[in-house]
Amino acid sequence: MQTDILKEKPSTALAELPSMEALYQRVAHVIPEIEWHLFTPDIKEILRLKKERNAIILAHNYMTPEIFHCVADFVGDSLALARQAEATDADIIVMCGVHFMAETAKLLNPEKTVLIPDFKAGCSLAESVTGEDVRRLKAENPGVPVVTYINTTADVKAETDICCTSGNAVEVVESLGVDKVIMIPDEYLAQNIAKKTNVEMITWPGRCEVHEQFTREDIQNIRDHNEGVVVLAHPECPPEVLDEADFSGSTSAMLNFVEDQHPDTVALITECSMSDNIAARHPEITFVRPCNLCPHMKRISLKKIRAALEDNQFEVTIDPAIAEKARRPVDRMLALKK
Ligand code: SF4
Repeated sequence: MQTDILKEKPSTALAELPSMEALYQRVAHVIPEIEWHLFTPDIKEILRLKKERNAIILAHNYMTPEIFHCVADFVGDSLALARQAEATDADIIVMCGVHFMAETAKLLNPEKTVLIPDFKAGCSLAESVTGEDVRRLKAENPGVPVVTYINTTADVKAETDICCTSGNAVEVVESLGVDKVIMIPDEYLAQNIAKKTNVEMITWPGRCEVHEQFTREDIQNIRDHNEGVVVLAHPECPPEVLDEADFSGSTSAMLNFVEDQHPDTVALITECSMSDNIAARHPEITFVRPCNLCPHMKRISLKKIRAALEDNQFEVTIDPAIAEKARRPVDRMLALKK
């Protein structure tokens, strides 16, 4: 079983690329033909520019289907994208996601050009905490290690012992072999992970503005109107939402669940494009869509990706002194998995 969609995508060396018609077949279930014709000029140009510039496009699972299925070289959750950023030999990385993801790619590739198609693609979690906040937490809790969700700025990572993602948080916390950790900034993720370990969590009041909106009543309503539905929830949701769900996990874990279990009807309690991207490949599965849009992820479009490749906009840079410290907790997380 693949752990994420990216491993199933072909190499995108231009000579090997499928025709526009073949590309359309990847998304025909979720993009009407009339809309597709608006996308094709930008898709063709992006594919040409990638080859010309030795660039790769890394796309998060929350990208829209025409990006996810038609121009991305690698797709996945934050952990998968960090691994691909670490492994690439391309000269340019275009991060189709939000700013902290591009920063993580830059930390792992200080010598490469890392671009984000819209510099304002932020994240409510990353914006909820500063390096100064972490220094204060450490002073208040001497000797307690800091586990930082990857959804943070380099400044925050620089104050951190080890990073985690929603896909490996339990493993990361338990790797430290301690009774107590400071786990920032997502208080719901920390509460949800605390239920799976015996490690005490000192939390921070950060929240994902997309996942915090889901409620227990939403899940009950879905079940009332969709007999037999299987409900999968992201661990950034409130704990009572996870209590009502059949399964919780990262976006890659959700994908694996759907492809392994093949439910007839499924509800993914997460960002909207996740369902679209899986539905494009599985038209036989009914997706109930109680989703919420991430306004930051939705800033990324084909036109902006094309502009990024044409004009090197917008390049992500990190103060070298911060970058050196911020890279360590990311490396430590990636080494752990290996
Ligand atoms: S979905 Fe939530 S965690 Fe992800 S980028 Fe948007 S605000 Fe941040």
